[in-house]
Amino acid sequence: MTSNKQPEVNIGLVGHVDHGKTTLVQALSGEWTDQHSEEMKRGISIRLGYADATFRRCPEAEEPEAFTVDEHCEDHDVDTDHLRTVSFVDAPGHETLMATMLSGAAIMDGAVLVISATEPVPQAQTEEHLSALDIIGIDNIVIAQNKVDLVDEERAMQNYEQIQEFVEGTVAKGAPIVPISAGQEANIDLLIEAIQSEIPTPERDPDVDARMMVARSFDINRPGTTWDDLMGGVLGGSLVSGQLEVDDEIELRPGREVEEGGQTEWQPVTTTVRSLQSGGDFVDTVTPGGLLGVGTGLDPSITKGDALAGQVAGPPGSLPPVHETFTMDVDLLERIVGDDGGEVEEISTGEPLMLTIGTATTVGSVTSARDEECEVALKRPVCAASGSKIAINRRVGARWRLIGVGTLR
Ligand code: GDP
Ligand code: MG
Repeated sequence: MTSNKQPEVNIGLVGHVDHGKTTLVQALSGEWTDQHSEEMKRGISIRLGYADATFRRCPEAEEPEAFTVDEHCEDHDVDTDHLRTVSFVDAPGHETLMATMLSGAAIMDGAVLVISATEPVPQAQTEEHLSALDIIGIDNIVIAQNKVDLVDEERAMQNYEQIQEFVEGTVAKGAPIVPISAGQEANIDLLIEAIQSEIPTPERDPDVDARMMVARSFDINRPGTTWDDLMGGVLGGSLVSGQLEVDDEIELRPGREVEEGGQTEWQPVTTTVRSLQSGGDFVDTVTPGGLLGVGTGLDPSITKGDALAGQVAGPPGSLPPVHETFTMDVDLLERIVGDDGGEVEEISTGEPLMLTIGTATTVGSVTSARDEECEVALKRPVCAASGSKIAINRRVGARWRLIGVGTLR
C-alpha cells in the first residue's frame, strides 16, 4: 500500500537495457512500470513507464536501516513515518528510444543510473544516458551498482572501481555508488538514504504561472459512448512550475492545425480543467512533481492518440512563443556515444535533424548552418521559451543518434 501523498519530485531511472531499471522501480514501489497498469485502470499514463514510491522511516531503527518503503517495521513492530513520495520515470533502454529518454529528462529533477555488476563498464547506453543527463543539465545523480547477488566479492570490487573510473570527468563524478540487488531487494535502505541526500525536492514558487509539459493525450471514452456520457479529452504530463486547480482556464500551444482558405495555420486551444489526478488520486490542486492527468472540456477527438503530446499548457496569454523556424546556438559532442561512435561532423545546410525540446520531438530541416549556430525549419511547430535546451539528433545509418545540444535564441 502506498500513501495518498502527492509525489513531489521526479527521478529518472536510466542505464543500459537489462541492467535492472524496471526491477528496481518494482522493488521501490511494488509496481511494474512495463505493464502500464495505471493506464489500463484510468486511461492516464505516459509513454515512459512511471511509478510512484513512498519513502518511509522506522522511528525505532538506526539509519540507514530505518529507511524503507514498507508501512510497517517488522523488526520493531511499529508503523513507519512518511518522508516523501517520489515519482520514478523509467527510461526505456532501447537505443532508438533515446529521444523519449531525453524528453523524459526534461521533467527529471535527478536520476538513478543503474549499472549491472555482471558486465564491463561502460555498456553503450550507460554512456549514452549519462551524456544525455549531462546535456540536459541533471547533476543530482545516484549510481545503483545492481545485481551484486550474481558476482563474488572480488568481481564486485573490480566493477565498483570500473564505475569510479568511468564517471571521473563526467557529470556523475563524485556521485554515491550503492551496491544493491534489486532482484533480492538488498541494500534498498542504503539506496533510499543516498537518494534522500543527493536528490532533494527542488524549491517551488506556487505564485508563478502554471506550466505543464504535455507528454500524452487521450480519448478515454469507449467506442460507442453516447453523447451524454462522453468524457472530455485527457492530457497526461508534468507540471514544471506554479500550481493547477480544478476549474482553471488553460491554453495549449501550439494548439491545433486548422485550414482556412487553403492555408493551414496553428491556433492555440483554450479549455477548462475539469478534473486533476496525481499520485493515483483525484485532487483539487496539483503542484510540481510526479505525473498528472488533466481532464478537460476539450472534444476528445482533439486529444485522441497523443495528438497534443509535446505541447505546453498554462494560463491563457502566459505561454512562450510558438516557433515554426528558429535559430539555436549549438554545442556538438566530440564523438557519437555508443560502441560504434565516430567523430561528430559539423551540421550542414539541408540536413534533417530530430530535435527534442521539452516533451516535443520534431524533425527540422537545417536552412542555414554556421560554426556554432544553426537555423532550422520545423515540420511541426513548438512552443518554447528563449534559452530552452534542445537535444539534437542526426540520422546515422538506421538510427537517430545524439550529436549535441542546442540553446534556443
Ligand atoms: P531493464 O531493462 O533495465 O529495465 O532491466 P529489468 O529490470 O527488466 O531486468 C532485466 C533482467 O535482470 C530481468 O530478468 C530481471 O529479473 C533481472 N534482474 C534485475 N535486477 C536483478 C538483481 O538484482 N539480481 C538478479 N539476479 N537479477 C536481476
Ligand atoms: Mg525496463
